[in-house]
Amino acid sequence: MTPELEQDRQQALTVPCPFPPKGCGEPAGQPCTRESMVGEREPLANLPAHPARLDAAGVIHAPLDPRELAHDPDREFRRW
Ligand SMILES: [Zn+2]
Repeated sequence: MTPELEQDRQQALTVPCPFPPKGCGEPAGQPCTRESMVGEREPLANLPAHPARLDAAGVIHAPLDPRELAHDPDREFRRW
C-alpha cells in the first residue's frame, strides 16, 4: 500500500464505516472488512476503506472502486 493510501486509511479510521450496502459497519478505529468467497471477514484488497467511509472522513483523492462495495458475493455474481 502506498503512503498516500495508508494516510487515507488512517483518516478513514477516525470515523465509523457506514452500514451495508454502502460500507461494512466497522466502528471507528477498526479497519474496513468485506465478506470473502468463503463467507469470512477479510480486509479490503484494493482500497484503504470503503468509498462511503472515505467520503465520510473527508478523504477526497482515494481511487474509488465500486467492486469493493460490501455486496453479498452471490448477489454480486448474479449482478455481473
Ligand atoms: Zn467499510
